[in-house]
Amino acid sequence: MDYCKEVEGKGVHDPFNKNMTTLSRCVWVPYPVIIGAGPSGLATAACLKQRGISSLILERENCIASLWKLKTYDRLRLHLPKHFCQLPFMPFPESFPTYPTKKQFLSYLESYKNHFGLDPVFNKTVVSAEFDLRCGFWRIKTLGLKHEETEYVSRWLIVATGENAEEVVPKIEGMDDFSGPILHTSSYKSGRLFRGKDVLVVGCGNSGMEVCLDLCNCEARPSLVVRASVHVLPQEMLGRSTFGLSMWLLKWFPVRIVDRLLLLLSRFTIGDTGKFGLHRPQLGPLELKSRSGKTPVLDVGTLDKIKSGNIKVYPGIRRITYNAAEFVDGTKENFDAIILATGYKSNVPQWLKDRDLFSEKDGLPREPFPNGWKGECGLYAVGFTKRGLLGSSLDAKRIAEDIALQWKA
Ligand SMILES: Cc1cc2nc3c(=O)[nH]c(=O)nc-3n(C[C@H](O)[C@H](O)[C@H](O)COP(=O)(O)OP(=O)(O)OC[C@H]3O[C@@H](n4cnc5c(N)ncnc54)[C@H](O)[C@@H]3O)c2cc1C
Repeated sequence: MDYCKEVEGKGVHDPFNKNMTTLSRCVWVPYPVIIGAGPSGLATAACLKQRGISSLILERENCIASLWKLKTYDRLRLHLPKHFCQLPFMPFPESFPTYPTKKQFLSYLESYKNHFGLDPVFNKTVVSAEFDLRCGFWRIKTLGLKHEETEYVSRWLIVATGENAEEVVPKIEGMDDFSGPILHTSSYKSGRLFRGKDVLVVGCGNSGMEVCLDLCNCEARPSLVVRASVHVLPQEMLGRSTFGLSMWLLKWFPVRIVDRLLLLLSRFTIGDTGKFGLHRPQLGPLELKSRSGKTPVLDVGTLDKIKSGNIKVYPGIRRITYNAAEFVDGTKENFDAIILATGYKSNVPQWLKDRDLFSEKDGLPREPFPNGWKGECGLYAVGFTKRGLLGSSLDAKRIAEDIALQWKA
């Protein structure tokens, strides 16, 4: 961090923890500060670098792409073909398969970081960020591993903390009385630990469906809770990825027509999913995605296991008891473990003191894609488009372009 200047240093005693002394430092950063060293943060730093602008990346964990490295299951692959997931200025290696594994994706990100000479500062959790009107700079407070406090001061603040920063854990009646383990998918690694067990998976998004498949493959007996309606589409149609086909069709037809085509083709390939408890929403998959951000499930084999009865499907849960779950249709079943595939949420409202760009309700930009990337006073958002890595790349390029204009001026 030779470009950062420490302008003040003072020792502070924390009265609540006698063993811990927090050191308060103030660091002036003459470049943009990026919060989060996930794919979005790295992409933005690389785009800035390409324009000759350095940046400082602050990351709460001790590694890049912590969501992928620490919070995902072993069998995970990219859900979308690799060319839709590559970051700016560096394609995936030719040798990688169409859907790279988690390990391959992580190695790609590591190479990306090295290629652009990015050097995030790890173990720095941003606890508050506020624009100081008096001096016209952002004040970004972080806590380190030993609760040491550092304040970074910069003209630009780029929020790249992701749509998946914190686990969503629902409150279900009786949950505390359950005798077995209850874990979020962020702690689930493999079905091997559950061999021979009856496991209830709550939530039927891509993660919930894939965890069920993994459990099946590891000789566990999974059941899936499908509380609401869900669009399940095959991962590939007509020899192309469903995502790629949709993008291509959208160039020629309006979204409703494309949705009809997708549903028709799905009906031919995977049949009527409603017969197995997976009822489709009223809106088509792409219209639903653009209106509510709800992603359709791209089936990688779970549906066959549901059809063959290897995965049971239940409606919403009424309550949990000592060793069972009661469902809203009155059925009751015993379980050894519960896995919550209930998703994630943004943590921006916890630390960003700004009411314009981000909504306090869900921590996402108030303006929908493609307008939610830029706020006031040098504030930017990258990776909050509900469009995965493709959205992150678009944001990153725009932000770098915008900052470069100010930089030159
Ligand atoms: C299981 C799963 C599979 C997915 N598959 C795909 C796919 O195939 N294709 C696709 O395009 N997208 C996919 N996604 C979406 C995924 O979120 C993005 O691909 C990508 O990880 C988003 O990158 P990001 O940098 O915006 O957020 P993240 O990867 O979440 O990175 C944010 C970083 O910010 C850090 N951070 C958070 N809060 C703070 C703080 N207060 N202070 C400091 N640092 C902080 C976090 O530790 C993290 O390292 C998937 C998501 C999941 C959960």
